[in-house]
Amino acid sequence: MSKEALRVVFLGPPGSGKGTMGKILAEKVTVPHIAVGDLLREAVRAESELGKKAAEFINAGKLVPDELTIGLTREKLSSGECKHGFILDGFPRNLVQAEALEKTLVELNIKLDAVVYFAIPLSLVVDRLTGRRSCKNCGAVYHIKNKPPKKEGVCDACGGELYQRKDDQKEVIENRFKVYDEQTAPLVNFYVNKGKFLEIDASLGIDAVFGRLASVLGIN
Ligand code: AMP
Repeated sequence: MSKEALRVVFLGPPGSGKGTMGKILAEKVTVPHIAVGDLLREAVRAESELGKKAAEFINAGKLVPDELTIGLTREKLSSGECKHGFILDGFPRNLVQAEALEKTLVELNIKLDAVVYFAIPLSLVVDRLTGRRSCKNCGAVYHIKNKPPKKEGVCDACGGELYQRKDDQKEVIENRFKVYDEQTAPLVNFYVNKGKFLEIDASLGIDAVFGRLASVLGIN
């Protein structure tokens, strides 16, 4: 697989490591990591119109309405930034979005190289989510046990303040799992039937999961 033209979608439950792997892979192959959750949180921080509409859904662990996320993703994929590839993380999250992505790819005359499914039991991701801390300033992600910052509460990368996302709190996590089971999990069949579906064991540590990811994508 040509590294320069890598076009992949990451699929998997919240806390399965899509964001962590997206960041590492993006550096390795020099294609942008397009994380729709990050884009939405940026919009919330910037208090843009999109952000104002999205905030209540994000904080409740619900999906932001399709008309907002579909437009946002289409705009990104059509931009020069994604000309030579992308790692799309957190989109699609339901069948309507998956169909919209198919349409966008046809319009742009590009094809996905792979859909990578991060397989992990939901029981294992609760700890990953409740222990996650994110930087208010640059969005870097830590874990209090698995990937602690050098100084508690402070981002190694930019010195920004670390916080726990509202939707990483226990009460909201349950709702995110329910949304995942009902709306996102059916996409596994959607992509299995289309081919190009690759599954990795996402329950291992960061280095081991990246090793498997690189291996299934043919990157060394
Ligand atoms: P994430 O950072 O991927 O865990 O996403 C955090 C939250 O952003 C989700 O729980 C949703 O509220 C929202 N979100 C992210 N991606 C999408 C999407 N494709 N469709 C709808 N909502 C999304």
